[in-house]
Amino acid sequence: MLSSCDTLIRAGTLVTQDENRTILNDAAVAVTGTAIAAVGPWSELGGTPARETLDFSGDIVLPGLVNTHTHAAMTVFRGLEDDLPLMDWLTGHIWPAEARLTPEIVVTGTLLACAEMLATGTTAFCDLYIFERAVAETAAAVGIRAVLGEGVFDTPNASYSNLDQAFAKVDDLADFCRGRALLTPCLVAHSVYATGHDTLARLAGLARDRDLRLTLHAAESASETAMCLERFGARPVEILRALGILAPNLLVAHAVDVTKAEISLLAESGTAVAHNPRSNLKLASGMAPMAAMRAAGITVGLGTDGAASNNTLNMFSEMNQAALMAKAREHDPTALPAQAVLDMATIGGARALGLSDCGSIEPGRQADIVALDGRAPNLQPPHRPVSHLAYAASGHEVRLTMVAGRVLYRDGRFTTLDYPALLKRMDKVRKWALGA
Ligand SMILES: [Zn+2]
Repeated sequence: MLSSCDTLIRAGTLVTQDENRTILNDAAVAVTGTAIAAVGPWSELGGTPARETLDFSGDIVLPGLVNTHTHAAMTVFRGLEDDLPLMDWLTGHIWPAEARLTPEIVVTGTLLACAEMLATGTTAFCDLYIFERAVAETAAAVGIRAVLGEGVFDTPNASYSNLDQAFAKVDDLADFCRGRALLTPCLVAHSVYATGHDTLARLAGLARDRDLRLTLHAAESASETAMCLERFGARPVEILRALGILAPNLLVAHAVDVTKAEISLLAESGTAVAHNPRSNLKLASGMAPMAAMRAAGITVGLGTDGAASNNTLNMFSEMNQAALMAKAREHDPTALPAQAVLDMATIGGARALGLSDCGSIEPGRQADIVALDGRAPNLQPPHRPVSHLAYAASGHEVRLTMVAGRVLYRDGRFTTLDYPALLKRMDKVRKWALGA
């Protein structure tokens, strides 16, 4: 019996995502400091003295969702241009606009992203962008968990004009993250075609030395593969293998155009994958062989990618799409069932990012917790909560988002983010994005 706790949450249905995928009805989660102190029936824990009790007795409580691949600040480009091929979209629209990026725009875009993520149940995200220090400062101010890396390209951009400056920014970001428990630095290359291979090897070396994740886009589409074959005489995953950087600390985003042999390479090396089904569908990049990757034992998380290619940062949409895409791809309705996509959005994502104390609701884990309005018509009748989370929830049923024991969003209100003030900046953002 627990003598006391800071916050006691009463859950109508508690989806723990523990090893046995235990689901409890009328349950309690006791939170002390940043961590979960106890989990059990309300009848046993309900009497625990607590500074605050949160009543979600009609609701579904689950671990916070983990977005393993995004570019938060790209919310400023949401809906600016759609319906174009990846390379035309990148080179004709996104990269020219990004050439005018400033840290201020990155802060505004990241704040908007944090608002959207918190309102739809995401408690941790992995971010790859430039001016990443501005992303880190924003995430720290909001109180959301983040794994962050300055994207290193060989070509100059708005954030730096040469590689020395780029690596100085990598170090500056690491310095900022030091001592901040919610922030973890990572190393980021854009891809095997936009980051030089010497630079990739250098980033991988730094990741090894500092025991950090390295992440990049790879094998996103057949056209990327064709470009790599023409320029380098090898496919993207083959290039990663030749560079010796396939490893458990590598997180590959996309992995859409991969062969059976490449799936084996990823599995044998322990490389993790961030699956971005909605971005892949919207850019017509293809359908990643997710059922085969999971069968091979690859650690897989879900990602939204940036809001310019999705166009939301809503992990419930991503779970739904991941399940449907796998079924359509395999012509098999048993491919990637509801529990599998929930696993990818929670413990799988946490594992992919190296967040070993996140992703489930168990004693000792970080108190990253979400509650969904169980009375919503689309979540009734209460047959199987995991089915509802994967196939029926929209994300807009979220009533509570807690990160490390702190309530950041509750019943439509943000506790650390001034949303009305943020909305006032959107006209300015629109003018900036249009080049005015
Ligand atoms: Zn991306």
